[in-house]
Amino acid sequence: METHSYKLPPKPLSEEDTAKIISLIKSKVEIKDRRYNHQTYKNCFIGRDVVNVLLEFGYGENIHEALQICEGLRTQGVIGHVCEDKEFENRKQFYVFESDRKELDQAKTTWQDVLKEEEGKHLCSEEVKDVLDSLSDWPKRNSEMGELLVDKHNREVLDNCRPLNWTNPSSDVKYDMVAIGGGAGGLVSSITAAVSGAKSAIIERNLMGGDCLNTGCVPSKAFIKAAKVAHTCRNASKFGVMFEGEMKIDFARVMERMREVRAEIAEHDSVYKFAKKYGIDMYLGDAKFLNEGEIDVNGQTLKFEKCSIATGGHPYVPDIEGLSDFPYLTSENVFNITEQPNHLVIIGAGPIGCELGQSFARFGTRVTMLSKTNRFLPKEDPDAAAFLHQSLMDDGVNIVFNAEPTKIQVTKSPGKLWNPEAKFEMEININGISETIKGDSILVAAGRRPNVHGLGLEEAGVEYDHTRGVHVDDYCMTTNKDIYAVGDVCSPYQFTHNSDIMAKNAAKNALFSGREKSSEVIMSWCTYTDPELAHIGKYPSEMDKEGIEYDTYKYDISNNDRAICDGVIGLIKIHCQKDTDKILGGTIVGGPAGDMVSQIAQAMYNKVGLSSMGAVVHPYPTYGEAFKALTSQINGRKLAQGAKTVLKTIKKVKV
Ligand SMILES: Cc1cc2nc3c(=O)[nH]c(=O)nc-3n(C[C@H](O)[C@H](O)[C@H](O)COP(=O)(O)OP(=O)(O)OC[C@H]3O[C@@H](n4cnc5c(N)ncnc54)[C@H](O)[C@@H]3O)c2cc1C
Repeated sequence: METHSYKLPPKPLSEEDTAKIISLIKSKVEIKDRRYNHQTYKNCFIGRDVVNVLLEFGYGENIHEALQICEGLRTQGVIGHVCEDKEFENRKQFYVFESDRKELDQAKTTWQDVLKEEEGKHLCSEEVKDVLDSLSDWPKRNSEMGELLVDKHNREVLDNCRPLNWTNPSSDVKYDMVAIGGGAGGLVSSITAAVSGAKSAIIERNLMGGDCLNTGCVPSKAFIKAAKVAHTCRNASKFGVMFEGEMKIDFARVMERMREVRAEIAEHDSVYKFAKKYGIDMYLGDAKFLNEGEIDVNGQTLKFEKCSIATGGHPYVPDIEGLSDFPYLTSENVFNITEQPNHLVIIGAGPIGCELGQSFARFGTRVTMLSKTNRFLPKEDPDAAAFLHQSLMDDGVNIVFNAEPTKIQVTKSPGKLWNPEAKFEMEININGISETIKGDSILVAAGRRPNVHGLGLEEAGVEYDHTRGVHVDDYCMTTNKDIYAVGDVCSPYQFTHNSDIMAKNAAKNALFSGREKSSEVIMSWCTYTDPELAHIGKYPSEMDKEGIEYDTYKYDISNNDRAICDGVIGLIKIHCQKDTDKILGGTIVGGPAGDMVSQIAQAMYNKVGLSSMGAVVHPYPTYGEAFKALTSQINGRKLAQGAKTVLKTIKKVKV
């Protein structure tokens, strides 16, 4: 058996021997730049070559002794592995002289090394481009970045998700799977392919992690958490917890914590991780189809057997006179702000508007939310929506229904980027009557549009439109049988977990003749307001349209012992197929609704009926015990029906 690693104590070497061995290695072992997983390691040599040279020149009787010498050199700080602090091995591993490493480290360019003079500044996209263009060693890319707040946390995100010194592979292989987009959909498409042995690539034009990490789930949930803490403190006296003095919000710190959280999570989506751990070829640049089987990135042509379009979406900005003259916020730049808006007008009252609006209000911002329709969250269960509506009003959010902004006039212009010093007047048509409101900040949260523009979809034979996005069938296949699409670019379910499951299904269908259908996925989601509002499966309105008969079981969460302790109110509704316990859908508002809906998801996926959900022993006191109460309802109904049948039979027998 070959001896790879060192098993004996390192051999201490005299200064003279050390010098001789260093000179031997430098003269006899090949030292050069080597590439592994798309990273270049400068001036490195291979462990096994050193062992062979030592043995050849009489340093050690056998591999063990040669390894003892090498480990001696390592522990004396003469040589070391290129990236890990580990014992010397007789393998094809890369090592460097520590003296070279110091020089190399100094030459390495990371985001931590650049933009030093811009620390703390908020740069618009043109300024970011200018800075990047001025860096001589920045590999030019055909894609641009958005606005950037320069600080150490964002630099960490950039070092993970768009490393400055990254070199795209120069491979000319035909990939089994190329994913366009490095968000949830693209990452999961590629991993699913790569772990099955397929040669896989990802092309990302901006930041790995996509919306979820950078401008969506992660920053919004960290922001919401801080707002919840503020709310808890403000209401602490109800629980007998008193503060002396006034509670203060350090908004800059709130936003910094959010950036810290994002930076911590960024490593999960790092370019290096995907390249090294999964062996995926990572390309940074804007992808454009050249034809039905080729894609251009920065002038390089990638060939593919199968492709997964996972380009996501962007905020829809309605065409309102004067809006473009005002530096409005969207989900793409709201997480860059460091000062608190005074009066925030939110155009849109959907989940994103509600989550952010409630949080801003809890920090003390005056929030006006404009809803185009006359109902709050019209797609959701009306009773559940009413709970949330009340809670937003309690937090001071002013929701204006049937309201359409028609004109915005800038009364004080702050420049290109958002600034709380700006002022505007907004004309709004409310129920046919024109009214004017004044504010300093506008958040556009009026829905999303798919990223289909400039992708060359026509050249690839992929049908699409600008509202629905890429057209796919139930198997995620587009009108080109070798091209699939997943996630926000093609689906009405705009959630990270939907991009994830579509990506898995698409990869299986594309590469392994799978028959995974989107229509068979039981979709659930949650709006992370307070109270949380979660839903799974079908709504009654859908079932009514489809002619499905159902029974609805309701539970008032304020009867749950844990909810009473917590001072929580809410509602659970579960819809079962008529006269059975088969769950078709459900809505939960209040308590840990997002986590509770996962229990219903488990039951539905495993075809467990509502009767059995409550048969499980739940720890007391937990919200999950609500399922026991719902089970008693369905069992009670079954018993009543059974009793009726028995009575009927008895009557018949008597007659
Ligand atoms: C404020 C907010 C909060 C949210 N909260 C949640 C939540 O709590 N839970 C949840 O499940 N969902 C949430 N979402 C939705 C979730 O973020 C998205 O559904 C999810 O990120 C979509 O993933 P995706 O891979 O389809 O697209 P994206 O994440 O948008 O990724 C697409 C990627 O493709 C890249 N790209 C686009 N065009 C090209 C091109 N031509 N070449 C190369 N690359 C390209 C983009 O740069 C991007 O990185 C939230 C969204 C927002 C805005």
